[in-house]
Amino acid sequence: MTTLFSKIIAREIPADIIYEDELCLAFRDINPQAPIHVLLIPKQEITKLVDAVAGDQALLGHLLLAAGKVARQLGVGDAFRLVVNNGAAVGQSVFHLHLHLLAGRPMHWPPG
Ligand code: AMP
Repeated sequence: MTTLFSKIIAREIPADIIYEDELCLAFRDINPQAPIHVLLIPKQEITKLVDAVAGDQALLGHLLLAAGKVARQLGVGDAFRLVVNNGAAVGQSVFHLHLHLLAGRPMHWPPG
């Protein structure tokens, strides 16, 4: 299923893109939940995390490494949170796998 994130990858709709490599893209969330709120997405369409398969292992690892790179690039390498919403019941609204990178304010645990 093609989502608006595919259109962002294709530059068909605008986004504040802050990082890109051959496998993934990071851009600022349009409705930020923290002073820094970036979405990191694979260019390959994976609907949600649970739909990833063994062949996606390297890509998933790449996303985590890229998240660390983006956090360092933003100056928050020592204090950030990654969130993956998997499924509508827990808040997933765009069905293209994405990591939320949140930083810049105190965060509570457990998350709500
Ligand atoms: P989720 O609810 O986990 O699926 O996250 C989807 C995120 O995409 C939300 O935080 C939205 O604010 C964000 N979002 C939706 N449309 C856009 C857009 N055009 N550009 C940037 N972020 C978006």
